[in-house]
Amino acid sequence: MSTGVETEPGSPPAAANPAATWTRRHLLGLEDLSAEEIVAILDTAESFSEVSKRSRKKVPALQGRVVFNLFFENSTRTRTSFSLAAKRLSADTQDFTASSSSLSKGETFIDTAKNIEAMGADIMVVRHSTPGAPHLLSQHVKSAIINAGDGAHEHPTQGLLDLMTIRKAKGSIAGLTVGLLGDIAHSRVARSNIWGLTKLGAKVIVCGPPTLVPRSMEKLGVEIAYNLDAILPRCDVVNVLRIQFERQQGGLFPSVGEYSHFYMMTEERVRKGKPDLLLLAPGPINRGVELTPEVADGKHSAILDQVTNGLAVRMAVLYLLSARMEMKTNSGNAD
Ligand code: ASP
Repeated sequence: MSTGVETEPGSPPAAANPAATWTRRHLLGLEDLSAEEIVAILDTAESFSEVSKRSRKKVPALQGRVVFNLFFENSTRTRTSFSLAAKRLSADTQDFTASSSSLSKGETFIDTAKNIEAMGADIMVVRHSTPGAPHLLSQHVKSAIINAGDGAHEHPTQGLLDLMTIRKAKGSIAGLTVGLLGDIAHSRVARSNIWGLTKLGAKVIVCGPPTLVPRSMEKLGVEIAYNLDAILPRCDVVNVLRIQFERQQGGLFPSVGEYSHFYMMTEERVRKGKPDLLLLAPGPINRGVELTPEVADGKHSAILDQVTNGLAVRMAVLYLLSARMEMKTNSGNAD
């Protein structure tokens, strides 16, 4: 199966084909992946980045495939990014929105997914507020499942696009010190970042108020910090995470004002960091809470690059899962 990237006249030669060695049926999290598998996705995403720069932004790699977006939680970037990624690969895409579905008539999550599979879904992109929901689905349907965020557990494509953005800006990930700032306890982005960054050889510091940074995180091989000003000069990258009010029971810090005083990324704090400090934020961003507007739009910010890279990462994941399906079908070993 070809990415179609190399068919465009004037394109750079395609890198070695990671699809030939990709064996995973689903993408459920970065915890399960090896460093080599993560790098294979990032390398594939690099070759798809080029497609988005063309005047005609489309390749035929997933022609005839059906990709369903099943979102049981709100989303702006992830859902549109997956839809667009599937369209750029020439797949048929369909959005399913929980609020206007038969779930409200009592149909179960698994029955809903089985019905969607019966319509020929090859790949389901699933977001759910319950940790493990995409994993459960992967045991009940034959379609490939991509986790687009499961509760506070993982958000693998966000982790991958963060890795891609860091690798593009810094050249490599090994040896960097990356601060994850804010509501670590409730953030699926934090967990996927921790798995991805540590596997690729970065040092990770998780920083925020003690109520939002569980000590147990140390088991994941990260450093725990509560004082942002103390760790900032050591960081090459800071990933500014949103306070996940929707997952909190309340009362985890005195007030938003107090949180911002100690943890908001301001221009003054940026000046205290390394001259080439790279700032990421997964979005949605809350200007004036986790970071100031000047910092969000400033020269250290890679927030919109993350969105651009997200599209390439999602194309890469869809492509690799689809290529593996095709190999299985051709070898007569379909799942
Ligand atoms: N959009 C990311 C997520 O779905 C980050 C956030 O919501 O703060 O986890």
